[in-house]
Amino acid sequence: MKGKKKSDVAVLLDYAGSRKGLTFLGLTFSAVSMLLSMVPYICIWLAARDLIAVAPDWTQAHGITRYGWMAFVFAFAGIALYFAGLMCTHLAAFRTASNIRKKGIAHVMKAPLGYFDANASGLIRGRLDAAAADTETLLAHNLADIVGTIVLFISMVILMFLFDWRMGLACLLAAVISIISMASMMGGKNASFMAQYQAALDRMNKSGTEYVRGIPVVKIFQQTVYSFKAFQASIEEYSYFAEHYNSHVCSKPQSVNLTFTEGAFVFLVPVALFLAPEALADGSFAGFITDFVFYAVFSAIISTALARIMFASSGIMLASAALGRINKVMESPTLKNPANPMEPHGSKVEFMDVSFTYDGATTPALSHVSFTAESGQTIALVGPSGGGKTTAASLIPRFWDVSSGSVNVGGVDVRQIDPHVLMDHVAFVFQNNRLFKASILENVRAARPGASREQVKNALMAAQCQDILDKLPEGMDTLIGTEGTYLSGGEQQRIALARAILKDAPIIVLDEATAFADPENEVLIQKAFATLTKGRTVIMIAHRLSTVVGADQIIVLDRGCIAEQGSHKELVAANGLYARMWADYNKAVRWKISSEKEDE
Ligand code: ADP
Repeated sequence: MKGKKKSDVAVLLDYAGSRKGLTFLGLTFSAVSMLLSMVPYICIWLAARDLIAVAPDWTQAHGITRYGWMAFVFAFAGIALYFAGLMCTHLAAFRTASNIRKKGIAHVMKAPLGYFDANASGLIRGRLDAAAADTETLLAHNLADIVGTIVLFISMVILMFLFDWRMGLACLLAAVISIISMASMMGGKNASFMAQYQAALDRMNKSGTEYVRGIPVVKIFQQTVYSFKAFQASIEEYSYFAEHYNSHVCSKPQSVNLTFTEGAFVFLVPVALFLAPEALADGSFAGFITDFVFYAVFSAIISTALARIMFASSGIMLASAALGRINKVMESPTLKNPANPMEPHGSKVEFMDVSFTYDGATTPALSHVSFTAESGQTIALVGPSGGGKTTAASLIPRFWDVSSGSVNVGGVDVRQIDPHVLMDHVAFVFQNNRLFKASILENVRAARPGASREQVKNALMAAQCQDILDKLPEGMDTLIGTEGTYLSGGEQQRIALARAILKDAPIIVLDEATAFADPENEVLIQKAFATLTKGRTVIMIAHRLSTVVGADQIIVLDRGCIAEQGSHKELVAANGLYARMWADYNKAVRWKISSEKEDE
């Protein structure tokens, strides 16, 4: 285990990789630039000193032009170095952001497929992208400003002794008060308030998104925004926190802060008035006036630096919130690849005492499930909704890994098979198979990138897609999802089947999804199923019992356990859960037929 927890900045800098050094170089430039930008103020002091010394015969002051040039050169060098520093920090910040994106995506690629069901890939990308961008302000700008301000403070303490410590202390006091008031808004007991405020903001954003997604429902049911109680409550909660934070937490400290940031001379003038008589008395009035001029002008630099610190603190908060989101992606579980992968032999699928509990769930979705599908057999998973059919099927292509027990393919635990080899062995057709915004050719070819045009065409024919190709303007090359070329659910299902046929894997895991199948599509889909499953091991999630009658084995899953297993005949004879489901199914079919007859 790691000893000390790394600071957010250290964690972010690690992402910069080889450009981490550039950040430090940039910060050094920023520090030196702050020192250089102070020289012009010293030049003003020198010029004032010389002028006062020769007053009123100003022509006697010889060094003024030199001081002017010096001030110009140092001011210019300070600005140039500041920009050079920013260039370095930007280069590192951009690399950090790009590495965060790359590492995040590389990590997500190792996540189990089920992770993408729970987290839409667009959402993950968006989250990573925004979080990576949010770190830029801190790394490119704020860190340099923080370092510059620290250098300013150290210099102020040194200058106090070089010029007049009492007037220096007056300026320093103003700066210290302003920093304390800034810290009081964000630190101590207000830090937890800040966290609550951020959480309220997050909740409002989240429920806002839900609300926008739910607009169709709002319209259909003639509801108003008030029916979205969660959204309304989150807005009210946020507005309470925002108002409370403004009026109770920020108003006083911010007034103090602004007063002292903008008017560092609030202490300077009284101190000067207090010191003036003494200086007049001992004849050092000229020196006193020079020092006063210096501090009066110098106070301007203090207010600029303090304003930067204020922006820096918001940059730090933004970046640490972003880092939290980045860590959430990086800490998501990944599939462990086997160190010494084993080759599966044949296409037997075995569940050996498999239990599985979803992350965060209290009850297992599957418990102690064992069954075997011999090579070439068809196994049907049936049972009431929520019984665990989809979960069981998902474990075969490793959408998730079992909690205990093992799922074996070709005699080898799926966790011991190289993921690519496993993917070559198992084709799956689930309800939510998505088609990309690409041509039908590309969509089908995704299953086997090396496939020729001819092979894709054959797969499409075998999946009964002829009618789809006929009606599309450019046949197989038509882009799906653009300008009116949308496919119906049944048509999409057939394209997905063509993909699985092209893949030519010995094991097929499929969800016999028929919710959308109109009679015409249904016949075609059944034909495509027949081609796809011929001679292969099939694990099928069956929704309608008519399709399972011919299965070699039926597994009845109820509340995660195998309630019964056997052939259709055996299970009907056993007179258990399956027999009841079968009777209900037949009753429903009869009811449907008779109601159709009455309609005629
Ligand atoms: P079936 O396919 O038989 O309808 P599932 O396998 O989908 O059943 O679900 C089995 C159990 O697991 C159910 O209780 C369901 O609520 C739960 N479940 C399914 N998917 C998830 C998930 N992603 N996270 C948590 N629980 C889940």
